[in-house]
Amino acid sequence: MKRIFLLMLLAFSAAALPVTSARASEAIADQYPASALYAKPVEVIPHVWSAIGATAPPTYENWGHNNNLSFIVTGDGVVVINGGGAYLLAKALHEEIKRITPQPVKLVINENGQGHAMLGNSYWAEQKVAILVHQDAAKEFAARGAQILASAQGVLKDRAEGTRIVGPTETFADKRVITMGGFRIEVLHLGPAHSPGDTQVWLPEQSLVIAGDMAFHERMPPIFDDTDTKGWVDTWAGPFEGLKATYVIPGHGHPTNMAQVRRYTHDYLVYLRGKIREHLDNGGDLKGAYYVDQSAYAHLDTFKQLATRNAGRVFVQMEFE
Ligand SMILES: [Zn+2]
Repeated sequence: MKRIFLLMLLAFSAAALPVTSARASEAIADQYPASALYAKPVEVIPHVWSAIGATAPPTYENWGHNNNLSFIVTGDGVVVINGGGAYLLAKALHEEIKRITPQPVKLVINENGQGHAMLGNSYWAEQKVAILVHQDAAKEFAARGAQILASAQGVLKDRAEGTRIVGPTETFADKRVITMGGFRIEVLHLGPAHSPGDTQVWLPEQSLVIAGDMAFHERMPPIFDDTDTKGWVDTWAGPFEGLKATYVIPGHGHPTNMAQVRRYTHDYLVYLRGKIREHLDNGGDLKGAYYVDQSAYAHLDTFKQLATRNAGRVFVQMEFE
């Protein structure tokens, strides 16, 4: 009797699992040793796939694959979201796509102007695939591309082979709608968030958003000098929630739902800003700001690398807000 109950309980909890049940851990150096990719692509919903990157920083072992490289098999060609952090990574993703479908890749979209979104454009440009990028992200490539490439080469060494800076073939400002095969694909810039030109790819008919660095899961979001944390919170609460997405492929971490990415992105930003506000109101300085209590997020990957740095950057931003 007891055993039957246990079995029922197991069956019930399996049904209640989120979209994918795999777990992320920055302690796992590589999940797909046969490929440059960190993990083999999974089909998240019908015809929408994602190769989930490491929740660790880019390393030689993960080939710089530390963000999600997704693709939509539309029925009339494939749309790839993210060039990836290196030429060889983009090539490895293309090999997986060719195993899944004979449809050609027709478009690559970069989620922002960071290395892991655009360095692999060098491979896709060689395949003569169009590359669509937000205009502010394109400015980032132009301004910081050489520095981004040099730092990737420092980490990836021989695995950076073939990687160059290749800009977009097309840019957009607020929105670009693509109809391809059976898909309506809305390429959106919903507002300021993690980095200049943050791009979200929204599939209204499937209620799935490929959120880019708007949304983080299973790891701590990094706050950079050009990250607008107030803008990020506002863009989240307004237009991003307004999509009412059922499924979310975040920029980093496994596919999930809004409740989960809200907890670990929006709620984290609100929490950290609240702590820094308190610290400022008590006359605290930058030195003390690094150590505001973030222990509620200590279980997230990259916590050790990012928590104090994030706090310092939020302090500098909020000092004059
Ligand atoms: Zn990212």
